[in-house]
Amino acid sequence: MAKTDFYELLGVSKNASDEEIKKAYRKLAIKYHPDKNPGDKSAEEKFREATEAYEILKDSKKRAQYDQFGHAAFEQGGGFGGGGFGGFSGGFDLSDALRAFMNDFGGDSIFSDLFGFGGGRSRRGGGRSGGLRGNDLQIRLPLTLEEIAEGTKKTLKIKRKERCSGCSGSGSKSGKRNSCPKCGGSGRVRQVANSFFGQVIQESVCPGCHGEGSVVADPCSSCGGSGLQQAETTIAVDIPAGVSEGNYINVPQKGDCGPYGGPEGDLIVIIQEKEHPVFQRHGIDLSCELDITFSEAALGTQKTITTIDGKVNLKIPAGTQSEKIFRLKSKGIPALHSRQRGDMLVRIHVKTPEKLSKAVKDLFEKLAEMER
Ligand SMILES: [Zn+2]
Ligand SMILES: [Zn+2]
Repeated sequence: MAKTDFYELLGVSKNASDEEIKKAYRKLAIKYHPDKNPGDKSAEEKFREATEAYEILKDSKKRAQYDQFGHAAFEQGGGFGGGGFGGFSGGFDLSDALRAFMNDFGGDSIFSDLFGFGGGRSRRGGGRSGGLRGNDLQIRLPLTLEEIAEGTKKTLKIKRKERCSGCSGSGSKSGKRNSCPKCGGSGRVRQVANSFFGQVIQESVCPGCHGEGSVVADPCSSCGGSGLQQAETTIAVDIPAGVSEGNYINVPQKGDCGPYGGPEGDLIVIIQEKEHPVFQRHGIDLSCELDITFSEAALGTQKTITTIDGKVNLKIPAGTQSEKIFRLKSKGIPALHSRQRGDMLVRIHVKTPEKLSKAVKDLFEKLAEMER
C-alpha cells in the first residue's frame, strides 16, 4: 500500500515554513493523541502517521531527502543518510510516536496540562556517550473496571535484553577492542548504488560495528560478542485510579539494555480495559440495566444495586416509566489524578411478562376491563 504524502498528512503545502509545519502537527497531535481517544485504533494510527511525517519534515536535512526521493528515502534498506530514525529498527510504531511527541513537546506546559498522564518521559536520546540506547519495549496491560476504579499495583513479567553476565555487557572476554575493518574506525560506510533515482551515494551506519568504529577483539562465548542476553524479569508498576484504554505509563530504563554498555530504553505500558459483565463505562460514569415488573413500576419498590464499590439500595418510586435513568452519585470511576468521581446510571426496563399463569392472566384481564 502506498504511503500518504507527508505534507498531505499534515495538511500543509510543499513550501510550508517550519513554523507552519509545527503548528499543523501540534493541532493533529492534540486531536489524535491516544490519551484523548482511548481505544480508538484509527486515531492511534493517525497520531502515529502525523508524528512520523513531522519527525521527517521538522528536520531540514531529512526534509530535503524526502523532497528529493519521497518515502523511499527512509525505507528499510534504502539507507540514504542512514535511514530516517536512528535506533528505530523495523518502522515507526506507536511507541516511537509517543516518545517523539514527548521529546518534542513534553516540556511544553500546554501539553503537560493536557496530558497530565504519561508526562515526564525521558528526554535521553541515543547519545553517543556509552553506546547506543536500547529499544523501548511495549506491553499491553488488560485491567478490569474494578482495578481501574481502585487503582492497582501490577507485577509484570517481561522479556528484555539485559547485560550479559559473562562479560558485564562489554561483549568481550578481555575487554580488548580492535578498529573495525569494514569502516576503518569511522563508524560510517559510503557506497555508490544504482537505484530508481539514478546513481546515488549512500552513507550509512557501518553494519560491522553499528557505528562504534571498533569491534570486540575476543567475543564473549555466552553472548557471541553482543554484550546482551535475553532475560525474563519482573517489574512492579503502579496504576493510578481512573486510567482509560490507550493511556500509557512510561517506566524509564526498563526496556532493552543498549548494546556495548549503552543506556536502557524505556518500557511503555499501554492500558487495555477488559469488558465488564455488568457495567458499561462512559468516561467517568458507569451504567447498568435493571429489569422491573409492571406492578413494581406502578406501585414503586426497593432494589439492591451492585455498584463498583458495593451494594446500594435504590428506591424506585410509584409510576416509574420504562427507560427512566436513576443516577447514583459518586458510584462511578474516579477521574484520573483528580478528586472528581463519576456516577452510576441505572436504566430501568419495565419487563412485559411473556408466559402468564392462569391466575395472573385473570388479573390482567380484570385490569384490562377496568381500563376500558
Ligand atoms: Zn565499522
Ligand atoms: Zn557476554
